[in-house]
Amino acid sequence: MSEPSRDARGVNLDPWLSHYADRASGLSASEVRALFAVASRPEVVSLAGGMPYVSALPRELVTGALDRVMRDQGPTALQYGSGQGVPALREQILGIMALEGISGSVDDIVVTTGSQQALDLVTKLFIDPGDVILAEAPSYVGAIGVFRSYQASVVHITMDEFGLVPEALEAAITSCHASGKRIKFLYTIPNFHNPGGVTLSADRRPLILEICRRHNVLVLEDNPYGLLSFDEPVPPALRALDDEGVIYLGSFSKTFAPGFRVGWVLAPHAIREKLVLAAEAAILCPSAFSQLAIHEYLNEADWMGQIASFRDVYRERRDTMIRALEDHLPELTWNVPNGGFYVWAGLPPGLDSKAMLPRAVTELVAYTPGTAFFADGTGQSNMRLSFCYPTPENIQLGIRRLATVIHGERDLLDTFAGTGPLQASPSSPNVTAPPPDLN
Ligand code: PMP
Repeated sequence: MSEPSRDARGVNLDPWLSHYADRASGLSASEVRALFAVASRPEVVSLAGGMPYVSALPRELVTGALDRVMRDQGPTALQYGSGQGVPALREQILGIMALEGISGSVDDIVVTTGSQQALDLVTKLFIDPGDVILAEAPSYVGAIGVFRSYQASVVHITMDEFGLVPEALEAAITSCHASGKRIKFLYTIPNFHNPGGVTLSADRRPLILEICRRHNVLVLEDNPYGLLSFDEPVPPALRALDDEGVIYLGSFSKTFAPGFRVGWVLAPHAIREKLVLAAEAAILCPSAFSQLAIHEYLNEADWMGQIASFRDVYRERRDTMIRALEDHLPELTWNVPNGGFYVWAGLPPGLDSKAMLPRAVTELVAYTPGTAFFADGTGQSNMRLSFCYPTPENIQLGIRRLATVIHGERDLLDTFAGTGPLQASPSSPNVTAPPPDLN
């Protein structure tokens, strides 16, 4: 008999092992998760997380909205509400989506507990075990986790500096069909991709939609960063070009605050009812309090002005990170994102971002290894560097520390040239603290 698995407190985790549903096997904590528990210590500069810099949000704007909600609509805010979401907020959401060229009906909007819940609901509705989801290579770690939990088979599609490559999409669909696989949807983040940083070009958007339409593949468009552009506005959303084949996800997490946990789906009308039923089954209704607070904020505050000041903060941090990379790590490759939160960096040959992370944490800097963003765990030669949360000073410090780690690894590689790849440090303790950074 093998030893039971135990958690950090020594508790045996095995007694109910045989009771778990098959799909629970997709829910496993990565080694990276354990490291992030350490990386959240204050002395570590974390370039790992996708946390918005909410301190840039004037506190009085939020307290004003909360006060008004409690004063004017207290009992409604504290009560259960509509499963589909507060109608007045859904009206405002229509106005927000219009900024990216989308016209729709309030009736087809379903408010969710962040767009993360929307990912879960859509996957629950469409995926049987073994069904294929197409997704960019790399793709959002939180989506991959959801897809895994429903036992989907994720097929990654190549991206370049203009986003998803249409020819690669066509080829992947053809190959899946040839091997008898059932494709349900394409999951795509067209704007300021997480983690890739790139934006799908305007001319590729209709091409991607045409391919999906021709092959009867739904499109799941995830767009939390679209309004956070540093220069030009993003091209019209995929949903703006096709309202029957595109399920659109939006969120207030990056343009306002993730603490309210409010996102939404704009569903094709044919799907909307099933989606509402799935949402009600999951949570009865989204938080009325959060929705009314956001409704008040959008009504009373200069929220567009606030988004503009978020953009200024993130632009400066992006510039700082790019300059620091140029100064300290010119041997890396990276893209220069025009918005959003992330730089996707490539390591020199021979280095492994996952193996290197324990050493980086020892040097008091954290990043997310590229392996988190591929369903098959590849991506060792890349890392995601987030510039959204640390101050410019800390970004510089973090990149300097990262340079020390990478240069140290290269020296080791040179010393042991020919003796095989470097191994990870002894595995870190199996801590399962919540990972504030793993998004
Ligand atoms: N999609 C993407 C691409 C994200 O980056 C995130 C959060 N980092 C989410 C969805 C989930 O965001 P939320 O649930 O806060 O709306």
